[in-house]
Amino acid sequence: MVAARARYHAELPRSYRPWRHLATPFVVGGAVTAGCIACLEGPALSDMLAVPVMWLVAIACEWRFHRDLLHRRVPPLQLLYDKHTLSHHAIYVEGAMQIGSARDFRSILFPWWALPALAAALTPIASLSGLLFGGDVGRLVLATSMVYVMVYEAMHLIYHLRPTHPLRRLPGIETLARHHARHHDPRRMQRENLGVTSTLWDRVRGTVAR
Ligand SMILES: [Zn+2]
Ligand SMILES: [Zn+2]
Repeated sequence: MVAARARYHAELPRSYRPWRHLATPFVVGGAVTAGCIACLEGPALSDMLAVPVMWLVAIACEWRFHRDLLHRRVPPLQLLYDKHTLSHHAIYVEGAMQIGSARDFRSILFPWWALPALAAALTPIASLSGLLFGGDVGRLVLATSMVYVMVYEAMHLIYHLRPTHPLRRLPGIETLARHHARHHDPRRMQRENLGVTSTLWDRVRGTVAR
C-alpha cells in the first residue's frame, strides 16, 4: 500500500494538473448534456421514461464493467485492469481509503479522455434509440448516460476523501462509502460490492459483501 502509493507518486508526470483532470469530465459531460437538453423538441411523458430506464441500464453496466473489465485483464483493454486492480486497489485498501492531496486524483478518476471517448461510443446507441423511439429519446439517452458517468466520478472521488470532508455528509454517501470500502478488501474486490453509485445491482446479483 505504502509502496504502491510511492510508486504512483514517482510515476506521476510533472505536467499533471489535478484540477484540470477533475474538471474535464464535468466540462465535457456538462456540455454534451446541455447540448442534448437544448435540442429537445418537447419530449412526451413516455419519452421521459428513457431517463429512469437508461439509469437502470447504466447501473447494470457499471456492475458488469467493474467486474469484467476493471478486475479482469481483457485485451486490448488491459490498461483498465492495470489502472484499477493493480494501481487503485493497491493504493487504497479497506481502512486506508483516503487520498493525500489533489495530486492523487489520477489514482481515482478515469483518464481525462475516458468521458469524451464514452460520449463518442454512446452516440451511435443514442442515435439508434432516436431512430427507434424518436429524436428526444435519443437525446435523453445520451444526456442521462453523461450525467451518470459524472455522478460515478464524483461519488467515487468522495468515497476516497477524508471522512470528515463536508461532501461526506451528503445523504446516503456514508453508506455507499462503506459499501465501496468493503470492495477495497483485496479478498472481496474481484466479486463483491461492485456497484459504486448504488448497491442495487449487487443486491440483484447477490454480490453484497457479508
Ligand atoms: Zn475506489
Ligand atoms: Zn474495483
